[in-house]
Amino acid sequence: MEFARCSRCRREAVAFQAYSGRALCAEHLLRDIEARGKRAIRQQGGLGTRERVGVFVEEGGAGAALLWFAVRQFGRRRDTVLVALLPGESAPPGLPEGVEVAAIGDRGPESAAAGLGCNVLALPTTLEEMASSVLGAVLAGRQATLADGRVQDGLRVVRPFQHVPATEVGLYLALVSGEAVPPAGGPRGAPDPVLAFAAEELARHAAAHPSAPFALVRVAGAITELGSGDRGVRGTAGDARPGPRPPGPARDAPRRACRR
Ligand SMILES: [Zn+2]
Repeated sequence: MEFARCSRCRREAVAFQAYSGRALCAEHLLRDIEARGKRAIRQQGGLGTRERVGVFVEEGGAGAALLWFAVRQFGRRRDTVLVALLPGESAPPGLPEGVEVAAIGDRGPESAAAGLGCNVLALPTTLEEMASSVLGAVLAGRQATLADGRVQDGLRVVRPFQHVPATEVGLYLALVSGEAVPPAGGPRGAPDPVLAFAAEELARHAAAHPSAPFALVRVAGAITELGSGDRGVRGTAGDARPGPRPPGPARDAPRRACRR
């Protein structure tokens, strides 16, 4: 690898972020990823008190990384329960302690989380997945779906890794679990053709323009904040601030034109 020293502390770097021009050592990469994860959660409504959070431990590294992230950030909170939603028969190696575990088979994460009494669902969506789903929605003419991605089936959905590239999510898992792990992300299941096209084109474009995926995710975030689409899309969770939120569905939540 051509990178050598951390931009923050001059120790040996483990990652180079082409989109920021920074090289980071293990400790600063860990801090950087967790700071981005916490900021994403705050932007998506935050975690208040007495939350029951379903963590979708999707196969592939990102799901396990998300579970480690959740345990490290929220595992010590007495008023927060973490439920690891494990698809299929699989359980990731080295499952962290302090979580309830539920095998959900091939049920979708939304219905599984709702059935287990969760009010928040954390999904392991990485930067590339989020950006290509934004691009795919636009290319398919489904831009209205961008505005209502935060609440599904009465669950508030958070995506802590939506600003973190898959390679960094893989490094994060290796650092926190102490195990050699395969790279996170990659295609899963059989995506629809438009999404596959968007992912492929975006990957090609991002090789020369590494900040492009971030821009797409930020655009989607801004649209979500506006809480309106062109077909009477419902409001979002209605509260971008951390702390207690009004009960009930998002339908009645006040709309906010701008976060600033
Ligand atoms: Zn450092």
